Amino acid sequence: VKNLHNSDVGYYRADLDEVARQRRTMVVELARAIDDDQFELYYQVQKNVQTREIVGYEALVRWRHPERGMVSPMEFIPLAEHSGLIIPLGEHVMRMACRDAAAWPRPYKVAVNVSPVQMLDDSLPRLVEQVLDETGLDPKRLEIEVTESTLVADPDHTVRILKAVRALGVSVAMDDFGTGYSTLASLSLFPFDRIKLDKAFLAEIDRSPQAKAIVQAVLTIGKSLNIPVLAEGVEREDQMTMLHEEGCMEAQGYLLGRPAPSIDLPDVVVPLRLV
Ligand code: C2E
Ligand code: CA
Ligand code: CA
Ligand code: CA
Repeated sequence: VKNLHNSDVGYYRADLDEVARQRRTMVVELARAIDDDQFELYYQVQKNVQTREIVGYEALVRWRHPERGMVSPMEFIPLAEHSGLIIPLGEHVMRMACRDAAAWPRPYKVAVNVSPVQMLDDSLPRLVEQVLDETGLDPKRLEIEVTESTLVADPDHTVRILKAVRALGVSVAMDDFGTGYSTLASLSLFPFDRIKLDKAFLAEIDRSPQAKAIVQAVLTIGKSLNIPVLAEGVEREDQMTMLHEEGCMEAQGYLLGRPAPSIDLPDVVVPLRLV
């Protein structure tokens, strides 16, 4: 039994080593991928629930890995955050998103995800200002999406950074609302321009009266604070109907549009044959 136990532990260790080795490999590849231009942005439409008009597009990063094909951000964003590579990657994403949006024939808003790690130093406002300058994008068309966890570590510092970004004319959305430890507190720390209700609530809405009550409560908070609420993860018409009835302003999800490359967005790019 003792021997078996020992060999089990050995096997387990080898397994952990393998995972750690794969992670190191991926970090090296990530660093190279920025220089090799392997990152692409997909855009997902955000619509007004009442009128179904387009209000903007969220930029979602994709890694076109030379051997493994498309790698999900859920796989590489955490690694990029741990290794610090999120700083150059975040800059690259900001630049690509503003460049793409500046080329759209209609002035839709573009929403860019900003990691809590990008918030740790003072460089974000300068980066945003520089990229707006470079691309000529109207600051009113840029929104950054931050999660509540951004405000946890050092609220004073983060609020200062967010205010500096806001002073440029850029708007700030609170992403994944309802999933953090102090989401309500964070609403009182900074006057967010938009609340993005996490998709977990919508997914449960027809099964769980609690989920529905939470959606209603968040919509009420949005109304009292005068902050529009965008519901994430809308996959079915009945969810749209419910959001409409409850007075939700905006929505995003597979029902309204899947993330797609900028040039494939039907409402954004004039078809080539017309130009
Ligand atoms: P997120 O910011 O909450 O983005 C929404 C995610 O939900 C996207 O996944 C989107 O494809 C997915 N989604 C959209 N509609 C639906 C739907 O109807 N049903 C379901 N089940 N899912 C839907 P994606 O693109 O895989 O991104 C995952 C996460 O990775 C994002 O969550 C965000 O936290 C992070 N991420 C993506 N791009 C960036 C980026 O450029 N920078 C940073 N820092 N993080 C990013
Ligand atoms: Ca987001
Ligand atoms: Ca989200
Ligand atoms: Ca998220």
